[in-house]
Amino acid sequence: MRAQSAAAAKTSRGLTTDYRSRSFWLDDVPDDLCPQPALGTPLDVDVAIVGAGLNGLWTAYYLAKADPHLRIALLEKEIAGFGASGRNGGWCSFAFPTPPARIAKTHGQEAARATLRAMQATIDEVGHVATAEGIVDAALAGRHRADRRG
Ligand SMILES: Cc1cc2nc3c(=O)[nH]c(=O)nc-3n(C[C@H](O)[C@H](O)[C@H](O)COP(=O)(O)OP(=O)(O)OC[C@H]3O[C@@H](n4cnc5c(N)ncnc54)[C@H](O)[C@@H]3O)c2cc1C
Repeated sequence: MRAQSAAAAKTSRGLTTDYRSRSFWLDDVPDDLCPQPALGTPLDVDVAIVGAGLNGLWTAYYLAKADPHLRIALLEKEIAGFGASGRNGGWCSFAFPTPPARIAKTHGQEAARATLRAMQATIDEVGHVATAEGIVDAALAGRHRADRRG
């Protein structure tokens, strides 16, 4: 990891804005990691998404695929990947924090099965999108994890 600048500023929550020093992933990004300018004027959009982490980015991605005419604003107070999405373990896993048995108890067997099927499908989906968009490493990581799970 590159050396952190001695003059690195802090966010309002005391986190460093030397973004590259926050994780291996951010340190590896060829982008300059400069935050975009703040909005100067109100925006008129169809969908405003707050937070450019994985959830915000996937949401914007699929909305744009579903309707390319949608005006989508993705609002981020730091840089894309500043949160957990930019400093996680990088595992592409279909593990769901709630075990199927507990889902079945509260929502029924079919809901538990549907949740498991949907989670399993995400592995292939990440692989497909990563391949289609040229994010090859992620596709390989996803396949690797799926293979390990058999
Ligand atoms: C150490 C660690 C390891 C992990 N390992 C894995 C793993 O191996 N595999 C896995 O699948 N998951 C892993 N996770 C979980 C995964 O990283 C998170 O579930 C996922 O990144 C959450 O994405 P998110 O978009 O909801 O949140 P975040 O990535 O946190 O994104 C939220 C974004 O919103 C921005 N924001 C917040 N408030 C505002 C505001 N008011 N205005 C504008 N922007 C705002 C933040 O700056 C941030 O960029 C890990 C998490 C951690 C912390």
